[in-house]
Amino acid sequence: MSNTTWLKHKNLVLASNNKGKLAEFERLFEELKLPVSVIPQGQLNIEDAIEDGLSFVENAILKARHAAKISGKPAMADDSGLCVPILGGAPGIYSARYAGEHGNDAANNEKLLKDLLLFRQENKAIQGMFVCVLALVEHADDPLPQIFQGIWHGEILAESRGENGFGYDPLFWLPELGKSSAELSKAEKNQISHRGQAMQLFRQSLD
Ligand code: IMP
Repeated sequence: MSNTTWLKHKNLVLASNNKGKLAEFERLFEELKLPVSVIPQGQLNIEDAIEDGLSFVENAILKARHAAKISGKPAMADDSGLCVPILGGAPGIYSARYAGEHGNDAANNEKLLKDLLLFRQENKAIQGMFVCVLALVEHADDPLPQIFQGIWHGEILAESRGENGFGYDPLFWLPELGKSSAELSKAEKNQISHRGQAMQLFRQSLD
């Protein structure tokens, strides 16, 4: 059984300023009927934390502690990204700033396509996975952060497809659906995505 004492606060700070993520989270909190409301950290004027961990889990905890410290409330952070095994797991934790500038999705996608050129072979897919780690802390010094992790497997396209989503969605191909992640509706993506999987585990932890 997990620690749910934080629930008495009735609200949770969401430690992200990424618009694409926040839009997905808002829907997920509604779709999963979570008994708690979320306050995006931007509404409390909380700036992004410095992410100097070496793994998704370290960065998720750093971000959650930072938001909890400034707000004085329980906080949840998502650290997520795309891992491409043939590139040694890159972009990985550097997904948001792969091409240098934080949050420049177009430049990040372009760099990924360029880095993969050498590895492209006819009739051979390049595997990739979206990873999402959620860290929930009751307070800034919580010794027992709760961690929920989702992994979504797919392939990396050689060119963009679709207009929905954000980040690397237009390059993430789902062979079993015959669509890229950017061709899914928000509801379809949330049902199967790395973020949707992690949120379902979070939901189950409250039962
Ligand atoms: P973070 O805000 O430091 O966790 O970085 C997340 C980055 O990973 C985003 O800026 C995107 O580049 C990428 N990313 C994470 N989740 C997704 C997704 O669902 N679709 C597309 N890109 C994603």
